[in-house]
Amino acid sequence: DAHKETLEFQAEVQQLLHLMIHSLYSNKDIFLRELISNASDAIDKLRFQSLQDESLLEGEGDLRIRVSVDKDARTITVADNGIGMTRDEVAENLGTIARSGTKAFLEQLTGDQQKDAKLIGQFGVGFYSAFVVAEHVTVHTRKAGLGAEHGVRWSSDGKGAYTLESEENPERGTRVVLTLPESQSEYLDDWRLKGIIRRYSDHIDVPIQMPAQAEDKDEQEDEAEKAEAAETWETVNNTNALWTRPKSEISDDDYKAFYKHVAHDFDDPMVWLHNHVEGRQSYTSLLYIPKNPPFDLYEREPAHGIKLYVRRVFIMEDTEKLMPRYLRFVRGLVDSDDLPLNVSRELLQHNPLLDKIRSASVKRILDRLEKMAKNEPEQYAEFYGNFGKVLKEGVAEDFANRERIARLLRFSTTQDEDETPAVSLDDYIGRMKEGQEAIYYVTAESFNAARNSPHLEVFRKKGVEVLLLPDPVDEWVITHLNEYDGKPLKSVAKGGLDLGDLEDQEEKKAAEEATESHKDLLEKLKGALEDKVSEVRVSTRLTDSPACLVVGEYDFGMGMQRLLKAAGH
Ligand code: ADP
Ligand code: MG
Repeated sequence: DAHKETLEFQAEVQQLLHLMIHSLYSNKDIFLRELISNASDAIDKLRFQSLQDESLLEGEGDLRIRVSVDKDARTITVADNGIGMTRDEVAENLGTIARSGTKAFLEQLTGDQQKDAKLIGQFGVGFYSAFVVAEHVTVHTRKAGLGAEHGVRWSSDGKGAYTLESEENPERGTRVVLTLPESQSEYLDDWRLKGIIRRYSDHIDVPIQMPAQAEDKDEQEDEAEKAEAAETWETVNNTNALWTRPKSEISDDDYKAFYKHVAHDFDDPMVWLHNHVEGRQSYTSLLYIPKNPPFDLYEREPAHGIKLYVRRVFIMEDTEKLMPRYLRFVRGLVDSDDLPLNVSRELLQHNPLLDKIRSASVKRILDRLEKMAKNEPEQYAEFYGNFGKVLKEGVAEDFANRERIARLLRFSTTQDEDETPAVSLDDYIGRMKEGQEAIYYVTAESFNAARNSPHLEVFRKKGVEVLLLPDPVDEWVITHLNEYDGKPLKSVAKGGLDLGDLEDQEEKKAAEEATESHKDLLEKLKGALEDKVSEVRVSTRLTDSPACLVVGEYDFGMGMQRLLKAAGH
C-alpha cells in the first residue's frame, strides 16, 4: 500500500518558508538555480558512488538534468537522474533543516526585508525557495540501486505540512514539479527559463536540457509528430566545467555566477584566484574570498568549505583538509589530476599530494592579501573588518606562516585610538622611539578598558606607542607571536617592566631610593596582602594612579587567566 502520511514541517522550516516568501520576491528567479544546483549535487553524488558500485547506474550512465514547462497544467518540472532519495531521506531533507547554526541564524533575522534577504542568501535558500514562485510542489524520487517499488512522492503547499506516500517509479533520480499560481505565469515560458539557466547555471558541468523547439513551419504537425518532438532534448548550458577553461575565456560575470553556486552566497565575491598548475603534480584551483562573512563563520562545523574534484568528478566538500581553520572563509574548489578517483576519506586524511596543494593554496591567499593590503588599503580594511578575527588565529595555528600573517594584522594603538584597528606592526616599528627595543601591548576586557589602563601612564608620558588588544583571543594570539621582525612583544602589565634605554636614569634612582626608605611600608603592604600578591614594588610606571596590579614575568596574562578560569582551570 502507498502508506500515505501527513507530516508537519519542523518549526524552523515554517519560519524560513515564511521569511523566504516575503524577502525574496524581488529575486524570484533564483528558485531555478537552487533546484538545478540540487539536481547537479545529486548527479555528483551518483557519479562518485558509482565509481565503487557501477550497478547504481542501472545501465543508464548519461547523467543529465531536464527542465520543462506544461502550460496547460501550469507546471515547471526539474528532473535529474542522480542519486535520488529514500523515504527517510525525503522526510529528513525536505521537512527539516539539519544544518548546524540554523537557530542562531534565525535569531539574527531582523524583520528588515532587505537585510534579511541578504542573510538568507548567505544561509543558502535551497529547496524551499521553490515556494517563492509555486503554490504547490510535488517531488517524485527514487533512490539509485533500489527497485521501482521504492519510489516516494512528497507533496506540499508550503504552508506548514507535507504528505509522503510510496509510488512505483521506474526512473531513478528526482523530479520536482512546481505548480504556479496565475500571478507567476511569466515563468511558464521556455525562453524565460532558458534565460535564467544561462544566467545562473551555465557553468554547471552536467548537461541541462530542455525540449528542442519544434520547427515553426510545422504549425499543423500531427499528434504523433508532436510526441516525437517532445522526445528530443537540447542542452542549453555550456557544460565545460568553468574552472577547466583558460582564464582568458572566462568573464568576470562567469566567475561571479560560479561563485554564487559554489559558495551558496547571493553577493559577488571580493576577489578570486584561478590557477592551472602543471608539473610534478597537476591541478587546478579556483579560490574565492567572499565580500561578507557567512552566517556560520564561528560555528564549529561550518556548512561549506572547499570542494575537491578529481579529474572533474566531485569527491567531497571539506572544511579542513584543503584550507586551514584560520582561512575557513575561503570558498571554491581544487581539481586534482593525480589523486586516484576512488579516494577514500581515510586516504585523504594524510595525503602528501593534498598537503602540498593546501600549502600552495594558503600561500596564494596570503600573497593576494598582502597585495591587497599594499595596493588597495580600503578593500583590505573591509576584508579585515569581516575576517580579521579569524585570520588572527593563524598566528597561533600556522607556525610556518606566522610572520606573514602577523604582517597582515591590524591594531588599535595609543596613537590611533580608533576602535577599528588600522595600524600594522610595520607601521608601529616605523614609529618606534629611539632606544625602544620592544613592541608593547596592553590586553583588556574591552576597548575602553584597554585605552584607559593605568599601565599605559608611563608610556604616554614617554610618547611610546602601545598596541591596544581588547579581543579575548588577542592574548592567546600574541603569546604565540613572541617577536616580530626581531623585536620582542612585551605586555605592559608584566613583570618589572624593563624599558631598556627608554628608562629615565634619574627616575630609576629615585625609585631605588624610595624602595630603601619605604622598606617598612612595602613589607607591611606585602604582609597585609599576603594571599593576594607575591610582591609589592615601588614603580616608575605610574604617573597619576597610586597603584596598579601586574603579573609575573612568566605568568599568563590577566586575560588568559580569565579565560582559563572561565574554562574551569
Ligand atoms: P542544500 O542543497 O544546501 O543541502 P537544499 O535545501 O537545497 O539544501 O536541499 C536539502 C537537501 O535535500 C539536500 O542536501 C539533498 O540531500 C536533498 N535534495 C534536494 N534536492 C535533491 C535532488 N534533486 N536529489 C537528491 N537529493 C536532493
Ligand atoms: Mg541546495
